[in-house]
Amino acid sequence: MNIEMKRIAVLTSGGDAPGMNAAVRAVVRTSVFYGLQCYVVYQGYQGLIDGKIKQANARSVNNIINKGGTILKSARSLEFRTPKGRQKAFDNIKKFEIDALVVIGGDGSFTGALIFQNEFNIPVIGIPGTIDNDIYGTQHTLGYDTALNTVVEVIDKIRDTASSHNRLFFVEVMGRDAGHIALNTGIGAGAEEILIPEENRGLDQLLESLKHSEKSGKSSSIVVVAEGDKTGKNVFELATYVEQNLPYYEVRVSVLGHMQRGGSPSCFDRVLASRMGVHAIESLREGKSKVMVGVMNDKMELTPLEEAIKGKSEINKDLLRVTDILSI
Ligand code: ATP
Repeated sequence: MNIEMKRIAVLTSGGDAPGMNAAVRAVVRTSVFYGLQCYVVYQGYQGLIDGKIKQANARSVNNIINKGGTILKSARSLEFRTPKGRQKAFDNIKKFEIDALVVIGGDGSFTGALIFQNEFNIPVIGIPGTIDNDIYGTQHTLGYDTALNTVVEVIDKIRDTASSHNRLFFVEVMGRDAGHIALNTGIGAGAEEILIPEENRGLDQLLESLKHSEKSGKSSSIVVVAEGDKTGKNVFELATYVEQNLPYYEVRVSVLGHMQRGGSPSCFDRVLASRMGVHAIESLREGKSKVMVGVMNDKMELTPLEEAIKGKSEINKDLLRVTDILSI
């Protein structure tokens, strides 16, 4: 049964991720398809507070499916964390006669969305946009696949220089709490070792593995390190530690940083964003809210926002075993 709804608003919040624009496009066009008016909010929750809200139509989102970042801009809004700020945001929701809100962002953005619906009874629905892939209730978040491809391409280049000089490279990739990027790019780029937040295999194992690589005649070695790995040493300290213990290695460090977030979304992320946007609007029309749209086994699914926020997205530990076997 479809509920009575006339106006939808969409915003992007938290860290930007490739695919957010494709999701905005899908939300706007699906709304238009079903005869709804769609409003876009600039600068996330802060824009909702400041009234930076504009009506969009199907043509307003031309030529954005391929663009990285978010054309709506994102913002971290401290004001939205306060009841007063959220009241201002709701005053604008009333002023523009908005019936439901689509929030594209990470778990922080979903926390804000949940509080907002609980306080003002405005239906909200989340679309997970973050390169870290660390959100429960979806096997893929928007931007993750693009980030994997970006990182693998860069590590391939680092490998070229590493093998020309017989060097060992420590490459730090994003992932404070989750090792998805490190684990998958490490395998994709043929890394010797992968260090992730979820599992501390210890410094001894790292040294053993690198000793083995040297003995087995490898001309270069790559260790992929997630930002939040649990060895207790940052990537520079790790490099020094290895140089001190295995002096035959010439060690270099490369911290990939923000370049991992940018770039045109991969085809996978564009398709995912399109499906999530369509599913978000169709779910709202069916009266669903306080949920996040996700993809599980190639099917669109809804997860209560509360679970999406609290749950932990598990890494596939079998990938560590795969690395161990293939890095001999
Ligand atoms: P990323 O994963 O890229 O960090 P995120 O959505 O988790 O994305 P946050 O900065 O944590 O990013 O959250 C985005 C915005 O959501 C915040 O700037 C704030 O406006 C709002 N928000 C986060 N937590 C809360 C909260 N507890 N109450 C109200 N609003 C919140």
